Amino acid sequence: MSLADARALDQKDPLRSFRDEFVFPETKSGQAPMYFAGHSLGLMPKKAETYINQELKAWGKYGVEGHFEGEHPWLPYHENITGSFARLVGAKEEEVVAMNTLTVNLHLLMVSFYRPTKSRFKILIEANTFPSDKYAVDSQARFHGFDPREAVVEIKPRAGEDHLREEDLLQKIQDLGESLCLVMLGNCNYLSGQCFPFQKITEKAHSVGAVAGFNLAHGAGNLFLQLHDWKVDFAVWCSYKYLNAGPGGIAGAFVHQTHLNSKSLPRFEGWWGQNKSIRFKMGPDFDAIPTVEAWQLSNPPIFQLASLRASMELFDKATMKGLREKGEKLTSYFENQIRTELEGHVSIVTPPLPQRGSMLCLRFKKSPRAWAGKLRERGAFVDFREPDIIRATPAPLYNSHEDIYRLVQTFKEVMHES
Ligand SMILES: *Cc1c(COP(=O)(O)O)cnc(C)c1O
Repeated sequence: MSLADARALDQKDPLRSFRDEFVFPETKSGQAPMYFAGHSLGLMPKKAETYINQELKAWGKYGVEGHFEGEHPWLPYHENITGSFARLVGAKEEEVVAMNTLTVNLHLLMVSFYRPTKSRFKILIEANTFPSDKYAVDSQARFHGFDPREAVVEIKPRAGEDHLREEDLLQKIQDLGESLCLVMLGNCNYLSGQCFPFQKITEKAHSVGAVAGFNLAHGAGNLFLQLHDWKVDFAVWCSYKYLNAGPGGIAGAFVHQTHLNSKSLPRFEGWWGQNKSIRFKMGPDFDAIPTVEAWQLSNPPIFQLASLRASMELFDKATMKGLREKGEKLTSYFENQIRTELEGHVSIVTPPLPQRGSMLCLRFKKSPRAWAGKLRERGAFVDFREPDIIRATPAPLYNSHEDIYRLVQTFKEVMHES
């Protein structure tokens, strides 16, 4: 396909105007950037600056009264995000909250959902999980007096294969049976882009008496999710990747409705989880908010929530359904361009639809290490992983077919030069 074809596809894209809502980074070459790193850090929504400035102004103007005064008082500020998060992950409002950062939330929810006994204490994860998730589950196992080498079970693809087979994953859950306490998967996988079937895994985990939790760092804002209907027990996600809330952005947490009023669920508690009507009476006893907000510990960073609010407004306008449709078109176009233009040089590690989101993980015959720098010089933002992988994501909120066309042409030029 030609550049003109790519532009024609963009003309037909109902979400094309969202691109103008973002600030694109500068390039050394002065060329228009090809930004494909949204799986790592999403672009800045123009409104982020406006909304953060609003809160700086409110701080200056009202001082402590900013908690109650102004257009967006700080006391309930995180509630501005709740509806958007519910729509984003397919949840009820009482099941989602914006708080902390991802790994913190993962620990807080494992406090509640990883409650091992002598016989049921295993945690199932993927072998190529994000290292932080491995540290988190290992340390939880140790915290409960278990040796992670026994308690943490890693499942990996069959020899010579790049992804886990669904049947192997389900069989593993079956085999672990009564020893299995928790299934904790990154969905999609951050390295391969493989997306696991939420509902089947959750059902299977429940059928052996285990809990299913997901890390949606690469799922939220990327996949079409229905966490409530799928009966997922808990989930966490960050907001700086697909959700464009800026570095260190406030993360999300989901706890299924069925667990919200459980008296037997242990939890670490703080004043921000306290019943709002009596929070400022500052009494000695904790009376939990009857939603997932009960897991909040501290009053949250407002400036970070302000940039998240700017981004979530765009998700609400575009809708996850529309974004997933466009995401599939863009990534399929990307895949086709790679197959036709770079034939013989690259294989695609990421599995085909429906087992993936927007990211493609590309393995080059000759390691791109030598020329990864040249890509950046020409304005391409992708990321390189040792020894031979490049990850690139067309983000449906701000990427176009033209971006993809230019990226693949740039790959081609740089490869031939090197
Ligand atoms: C990005 C990512 C993280 C990062 O954790 P933070 O607590 O946000 O620093 C953790 N796990 C996965 C799977 C990720 O993709």
